[in-house]
Amino acid sequence: MNRKTKIRGCVLRVERTSIHDGKGLRTVLFLKGCPLRCQWCSTPESQRFEPEKGYVSKNCIGCGTCVDACPQGALTILEDTKKVHTDSSKCRDCFTCIEKCLHGANKKYGKYMSVQEAVREITKDEIFYFHSNGGVTISGGEPLFQSDFVARVLQECRKIDIHTAIETSLYANYKSIETILPWLGTLYVDIKLMDKKSHKKWTGVNNTLILDNIQKIDRSKYPLEIIIRIPLIPGVNDSDLNLSATVKFCESIKKLKEIELLPYHRLGIETYRNLGMDYLLKDLASPSSDWVLERSHFLIQQNIGVPIRAAYACNAQYQRHAEDRGFEVRDLNRV
Ligand code: SF4
Ligand code: SF4
Repeated sequence: MNRKTKIRGCVLRVERTSIHDGKGLRTVLFLKGCPLRCQWCSTPESQRFEPEKGYVSKNCIGCGTCVDACPQGALTILEDTKKVHTDSSKCRDCFTCIEKCLHGANKKYGKYMSVQEAVREITKDEIFYFHSNGGVTISGGEPLFQSDFVARVLQECRKIDIHTAIETSLYANYKSIETILPWLGTLYVDIKLMDKKSHKKWTGVNNTLILDNIQKIDRSKYPLEIIIRIPLIPGVNDSDLNLSATVKFCESIKKLKEIELLPYHRLGIETYRNLGMDYLLKDLASPSSDWVLERSHFLIQQNIGVPIRAAYACNAQYQRHAEDRGFEVRDLNRV
């Protein structure tokens, strides 16, 4: 068995013909596992590094099939609600309960794939890439946590002229980053907060490694383009002070092609419920269009010399409103 066949990646899901994750139509491979714990995270199912079980309560009819099937006795039907309770101290993630449930109430997030399986999934969409100038985007979770897998997949794609991109936090060892750079067309990286203490408070990790990695990649010999994304979270990182500091940092990045604002949304809340996790920002409302426009305008006024785009989930009215005022806006609709 050669090295290529041994490498496997833990993939959360494959999304096809996405218009939100790079140029043209993209096939997006979402990987599992992330070392950050951003409190606004909209994909909590991507945080753990291995496949996991979720429970969609509204689909459950209380038939008890999964309770009988669980070899660990980890499941019970609650008397009052007739819903299934999982004793996570007993569950061994064997996923028998998922196979047995015929109602889509037990759900598995993630599965292992070989490099060849992943490339096969990607090449199914080749016709779309050809007609739209699209390609593959590897996202997460944090793709760099599985850098061997990512490097091999990107390399195989480049061999057959498929454009490549990744979406990353860059919270990773530079050695692992270097393994993917030769095969990468576009790097999307978040800058969440410039202040170290605040970054740690809201994401669980320090930002020094992330900022250093952006600068190292910028100085590297590889001709990739960098797009910096700012998740715009009311009361967390939307201050003039933080946005000005972010722009100042971006000004030094020679490979920077554009900045994208990703305004806060609450689309992941149901998944938190399915996973039995707490959503820490439950009291934070989605921001208004006017607020997003005002913050976008503040950034534009800094005259950084690259396009600044704002993306807003599910809101065509906002898009019209913004375009009327001369902003360049894309509706990323990141459900
Ligand atoms: S994943 Fe396996 S051990 Fe866990 S609750 Fe389901 S059947 Fe039981
Ligand atoms: S999760 Fe599925 S198998 Fe288990 S009780 Fe509900 S409907 Fe039945």
